[in-house]
Amino acid sequence: MPRYECRVGRIETDITTFRILARMSWVATKLYNTALWNARDVWDKTGKIPTGIDLQKTVYESPYHVLLPAHTYQHPAHQVGNGFRSWFALRKSDKTARPPGFRKKEFLSSILFTEDAFRIAHNGIILLTISKGLKDELGYPDKYMPLRILRWGTPLPVGQIKQLEIMPRNGYFEVHAKILLPEPEWRTEGRIVAIDLGMRNPVTSASEDGKTEIYKGGKLLSHLRYWNKERARVQSAIMERPKGRKDWSRSLSRMSKRGARQVGQGIHALTKQIAEDCSSGNVKEVVVGDLGGIKKDKDGKKWNDKSSQNWQQFPIREVVSQLRYKLERSGIRLVEIDERGTSKGRCSACGNEDRKLMRRVHRGLFVCANCGGHINADVNGARNILARYLHQIGKPVEGSSGGLAQPSVRRWNGHLWKVVS
Ligand SMILES: [Zn+2]
Repeated sequence: MPRYECRVGRIETDITTFRILARMSWVATKLYNTALWNARDVWDKTGKIPTGIDLQKTVYESPYHVLLPAHTYQHPAHQVGNGFRSWFALRKSDKTARPPGFRKKEFLSSILFTEDAFRIAHNGIILLTISKGLKDELGYPDKYMPLRILRWGTPLPVGQIKQLEIMPRNGYFEVHAKILLPEPEWRTEGRIVAIDLGMRNPVTSASEDGKTEIYKGGKLLSHLRYWNKERARVQSAIMERPKGRKDWSRSLSRMSKRGARQVGQGIHALTKQIAEDCSSGNVKEVVVGDLGGIKKDKDGKKWNDKSSQNWQQFPIREVVSQLRYKLERSGIRLVEIDERGTSKGRCSACGNEDRKLMRRVHRGLFVCANCGGHINADVNGARNILARYLHQIGKPVEGSSGGLAQPSVRRWNGHLWKVVS
């Protein structure tokens, strides 16, 4: 599976660069409106939404298309097509949904450059193709225009830039680069670590060498709870106030952005910490429970206890995908396995699977009457995932019957995941 990362950079715009980018953005708006006009026309006459091919043809018939490189002028047609398709789907459930609207003619649209519409010079400078039409119109002498990047938000990874999208901002331009990463050199030596994504603790890990670690997410989850509650509160206030709704929605979106930022920081720091520990700790593979099993328990019933409500708003998918790409940078594979039954169906200390002999007591403590073991329920889950995976790949599970070391604990303090014990 190809792997991409995205980087945002601010473009250094001298007068010529500015003029050319602004002209291209203006043309993109023009083509967008042309495609939209056609789409509405087709809809009015036939009651059908136009196909992508129809919209591409419309754009191609516009005299303005020659001012943009090939493919770049198709981007507005794709945007209109996508807009219409989602409106078409939405209107089945929402009668008030409106089709996409025209862009004001002074509005500058984003411009998309696929791989064949730019190249990278030896010195790393991006060279944008200037179409013949635009060259002629502006009297620009070269086939390519150098695009100097003032700074990238995050340094560029090693890889190949596959696509550039230039976004007009207030008074300047930004470039969004999509970068294809090379296949990592996978580690062949090292330990295996299993991760249990839990409700109370976002991450609990168990390593082949017997070490376990718990990331306690209390503060992060209480942030989530708080912002979700606030959002619900403001939302209902908006519904009661037909007047001034706009101001309220604006404050709502500001607020959820702020909440999302706080939670986002915690998650980034979480995945970064784990990836760093794995990278320096001679780990070659990280196993996580398959996400399909997370929302339902083993009988297929949805969880409805209080703690799982918080958890369901926790962006698990995001945690896993961040973890995956951060680990891959060090050549560590992330493997997903079916985790059903690993959390409470088995005692990881003695391997007992007789449910009558085990129970979960207060504060997530797992007790097994077979071996007399008391173990944190999430640690038990992580150790079970590890045992299941090792069994799958035919590796003996070592030291599972030995005494269990205390898990080390990290807690989110608003800035970092600090070791607390
Ligand atoms: Zn046991």
